[in-house]
Amino acid sequence: MITTRTYLDYNATAPLLPEARAAMIAALEQFGNPSSVHAEGRAARAIIEAARIAVAALVKAKPSEVIFTSGATEANAWVMGAGWTRIYLADIEHDSIDVPAARSSAERVVLPVDGNGIVPVESVAAVLADAAAARRSLLTLQTANNETGVIQPVADVAALAHEHGIAVHTDAVQAAGRIDLDFRSLGVTTMSISAHKLGGPKGVGALIVREGTDLKAMIAGGGQEHRRRGGTENVAAIAGFGAAAVVVRNRMADWSRVCDLRNELEREILAVTPNAVIAGAGAPRIPNTSSVAVAGRVAETSVIKFDLAGVAVSAGAACSSGKVGASRALRAMGFSEELARSAVRLSLGRDTTRDDIDALLGAWRKIMVAPAMAA
Ligand code: PMP
Repeated sequence: MITTRTYLDYNATAPLLPEARAAMIAALEQFGNPSSVHAEGRAARAIIEAARIAVAALVKAKPSEVIFTSGATEANAWVMGAGWTRIYLADIEHDSIDVPAARSSAERVVLPVDGNGIVPVESVAAVLADAAAARRSLLTLQTANNETGVIQPVADVAALAHEHGIAVHTDAVQAAGRIDLDFRSLGVTTMSISAHKLGGPKGVGALIVREGTDLKAMIAGGGQEHRRRGGTENVAAIAGFGAAAVVVRNRMADWSRVCDLRNELEREILAVTPNAVIAGAGAPRIPNTSSVAVAGRVAETSVIKFDLAGVAVSAGAACSSGKVGASRALRAMGFSEELARSAVRLSLGRDTTRDDIDALLGAWRKIMVAPAMAA
């Protein structure tokens, strides 16, 4: 019987921070409608506006640029569905970008990805130079990948896109609170973030919309969120998001310890499984993520074995597990179908300890080092 669990799936979600929980409980007591002018309404409004300031500070945007949504999936779908005639994107984007982009009437132009999972700036320059100008074009490029943690050259790509009059969106879900993000210096038009990846509650996120951007309302019919997303706000969730944003902004220094742990973990994995391939290891990555492929394994099976051994990890993107098949991102990086299907994602959190790494490595030796047929 396993009594302790080791959680190494922070890219799927992070545990709720105590500060976020306390802020949510306090907010639940403020029952006023934030749109009401009376004292009860104003008390609820004040909670939302304080959270807006905290979330804006996390990504160095203006509070007026923060639009609260139900999460990053909504924020991404909003931008993809905003009536573009052409969308430039790479095959490494999260489904919440890829699927609404495919469903929209926009022409899709696929950006190349190198073996490390980076979209090279030069190849974007070539694609944009070749393309005849289309009215209302969007380029979308994630800040960091949810499976590999690889960080994209968003600022350079955004500068290029703007030269061609192209709007730029970045899905910063996995980067927010883990690396310094500066909305203004990234030069993007819009950015999506999600509370639950950084210790806030699930079901709340934000779209950051650069001042002056023409973007049709996500939900019309209510004046909330600067008339961009109607509906009475989820005050408690927004309060939790704000509280989490404050904590993570103050604790950015923790990541250097986590990065050292991640690097030790990778070294030790490679020592016991020399045929393991760490996806994107040659590129800059967020400090907590490692995607490890081992030929001859099937990720879904490995994940179940790790779970039975008390260790929570995932097969590629958590949102797509259950779906049999190889990771689209790893395939785009040139991994064979078989190797891509074997990749296990290990994602650490700020509270991850050396004991957690030892627990993972103990399970790894039993699950991934034993002969594949017998394991
Ligand atoms: N983008 C990325 C890169 C993600 O990892 C996720 C979460 N799996 C999302 C978007 C969706 O965020 P949410 O859970 O807030 O809808």
